[in-house]
Amino acid sequence: MDDGFSHGFRRFLSGFDQDFFNNNGIFGFLKKDPLFSCKALGNLSKASSVSSIVSIDSYAAGYWDSGFESTSEKSLTTPVVSRRVFLGGLPKDCALHNIHSNLRGYNFTHVDWPSRKSNNRMMGYCFVEFVDEQEVLKFVEGASEIGGRWFKSMRFSRRKEMEIEIRPFFLTNAEWEADDGYPEDSFNSTIFLGGVPRDATAKQLADALSVYGPVFQVSIQLETRTHYPKGVAIAVFKKKECFKRAMSAKLLLFGAPGFRRRIEMKPFIDKSGVCPMCLEFSSMVFCGHIDCLNYSCNECYRIYHEITQNDHSNDCIGRGTFYTSFSDRSRRF
Ligand SMILES: [Zn+2]
Ligand SMILES: [Zn+2]
Repeated sequence: MDDGFSHGFRRFLSGFDQDFFNNNGIFGFLKKDPLFSCKALGNLSKASSVSSIVSIDSYAAGYWDSGFESTSEKSLTTPVVSRRVFLGGLPKDCALHNIHSNLRGYNFTHVDWPSRKSNNRMMGYCFVEFVDEQEVLKFVEGASEIGGRWFKSMRFSRRKEMEIEIRPFFLTNAEWEADDGYPEDSFNSTIFLGGVPRDATAKQLADALSVYGPVFQVSIQLETRTHYPKGVAIAVFKKKECFKRAMSAKLLLFGAPGFRRRIEMKPFIDKSGVCPMCLEFSSMVFCGHIDCLNYSCNECYRIYHEITQNDHSNDCIGRGTFYTSFSDRSRRF
């Protein structure tokens, strides 16, 4: 009969605690290796084929690996800008052929123009996907800067010429790393950010996150095909306390020129990992209750809370758990 101490839980009670895990568990080396970071996460998932919460795509892994390439190789193979470009401030009477005619002379694959769900009206912005980054750079060339934003003159009828905002995404903005220091305990300091505005930079996210303490690294996840931000990021704090503060706060009020958003901060949960309590390989969850803020497998979660007589069933965070609805996150604050 299950006495509540099965599943290797006895080992946890007899001293295999969180610190033991950090020093000796399968991922113990990560703590000892100061270079462990998102880079390592990328390599790990690539090496072990364990897909993490956001699939770390081949590009991202390659990008993180780029430090190992020679300078000449790097300049040839490392892309600098996303093939997808945001165009904003389109006139109300704009039609698709107007956009196309302004793109004449540039090699693009298609225009992605979202419409409002409620009334089917086209949005005042669209995305243009160019065939390669050379075409993007050609398109961006000659744009004029006004207050840190870029505008390009476009014609919408014989008489109507307007300044349209263009926002190319430069890939240097996808990665940020502190000049000094390393995370004390990467496993317990890595968070997942959801609902990240597509034109937010890793540096802006790091600045916003620094209210919880020093940040080591921020990595914005990119689409494989276009290298455009997926709207999610991974951040590593230098200290476990910063991670705990962020996990208690759950939502980050993120404001930068052009956007204000509530960003969800969640623990970084791998599809499967080694449970720090029973040391068995399993799918992981996280207790988001302020008294716990720790990782475990589902079974240890149940047993631990049974023993401590805490009902934290509403605090269980797994992959795909969201605190707020999407409309709530994008609401202005
Ligand atoms: Zn467990
Ligand atoms: Zn708990």
